[in-house]
Amino acid sequence: MGLVVQKYGGSSVADAEGIKRVAKRIVDAKKNGNQVVVVVSAMGDTTDELIDLAEQVSPIPAGREFDMLLTAGERISMALLAMAIKNLGHEAQSFTGSQAGVITDSVHNKARIIDVTPGRIRTALDEGNIAIVAGFQGVSHDKKDITTLGRGGSDTTAVALAAALDAEVCEIYTDVDGVFTADPRVVKKARKIDWISFEDMLELAASGSKVLLHRCVEYARRYNIPIHVRSSFSGLRGTWVSNEPQGDQKVEHAIISGVAHDVSEAKVTVVGVPDKPGEAAAIFRTIANAEVNIDMVVQNVSAASTGLTDISFTLPKAEGRKAIDALERNRGVIGFDSLRYDDQIAKISLVGAGMKTNPGVTAGFFEALSDAGVNIELISTSEIRISVVTRADDVNEAVRAVHTAFGLDSDSDEAVVYGGTGR
Ligand code: ADP
Ligand code: ASP
Ligand code: MG
Repeated sequence: MGLVVQKYGGSSVADAEGIKRVAKRIVDAKKNGNQVVVVVSAMGDTTDELIDLAEQVSPIPAGREFDMLLTAGERISMALLAMAIKNLGHEAQSFTGSQAGVITDSVHNKARIIDVTPGRIRTALDEGNIAIVAGFQGVSHDKKDITTLGRGGSDTTAVALAAALDAEVCEIYTDVDGVFTADPRVVKKARKIDWISFEDMLELAASGSKVLLHRCVEYARRYNIPIHVRSSFSGLRGTWVSNEPQGDQKVEHAIISGVAHDVSEAKVTVVGVPDKPGEAAAIFRTIANAEVNIDMVVQNVSAASTGLTDISFTLPKAEGRKAIDALERNRGVIGFDSLRYDDQIAKISLVGAGMKTNPGVTAGFFEALSDAGVNIELISTSEIRISVVTRADDVNEAVRAVHTAFGLDSDSDEAVVYGGTGR
């Protein structure tokens, strides 16, 4: 008997009807002779609503209590889903992350999984149950506090359980038919990808394609767990993400896998920094000590007359306040004139392993943006990715322009978005 792990995102279980529809799919997988473990997210936009609520009570909610609050969302959906399955005449048991053995470090709001001990899940399966696990949460190894894995973290829960249970596949059910060459909410002519390598998927996810979370892909690559991303609203085959294509998984020999965009970041500019050794180190040590992750970094050429320069970097908007406060507190030690904070930016990235060996990709990318009248503020590259920062207002037009310029537009059906609010 095979073991499959299925994960259903919030848009798939947005209401009672959604929960009942998903319950039927799960029962079908069980009837096909599989042992089934299901990871479920909070219903619809519940997590966002809980965050809004917390912010009304306290502007910067404390980590431990914030996690306690957010995990309630997944508890609601796991219990309802187990009830809906029982109502169809099948046995199901729900488990919190902690009960499922998801052990994490103790960094609240973005904990990392350090071990998975799914003894209770195994027992539940052996007794004939479908096991339903609350996604996005765990328990810290030292203090035994409840933690969350960061936004979108249910994807990681699913892959981590698939690895610990030696599952054949981890199926990620969502509100689109798979991984597309761009976000189908923005590019109607985006094409579904049949198979994509872990390497390219990792870059797309890191660049903002939230259909899969970056950490989940990292985890899947480390433990070599194939992921099948597909819609919970259709019966269509989706996108396979793995090391090597299998069987009839079609490999596209495109230079570019896709275009990703991200509007969740902000830009901080540290103005008037003395151009001498140790300054960048002092700034980024301060940011690191505040446990804030940064993305792009750019240092301007210093003005000869003043010997001062500006350093800009991008970071998640959600961590902007923390970073600014930490820099202000250390202003005396670091030495700078002022700070600028800009949250009206977007990052647009072009991803594809083919760009390693194809000259002209960077030029084509910049030409497409310039033809669309989009101004570039920051640039960063890896071997298989080019990213730029632009004004947030330009993002949709820029993504479409780049998608078309690299020949990614499909000439058949428009990409379908079945649900979700895109929040
Ligand atoms: P879930 O609630 O199932 O976790 P998410 O909202 O986290 O769903 O992820 C699915 C969404 O990801 C899609 O609705 C789509 O708007 C967005 N998305 C962004 N980039 C892509 C892409 N390249 N392919 C498919 N979907 C994408
Ligand atoms: N409910 C959480 C979120 O909205 C986790 C997830 O959906 O994966 O971020
Ligand atoms: Mg998600």
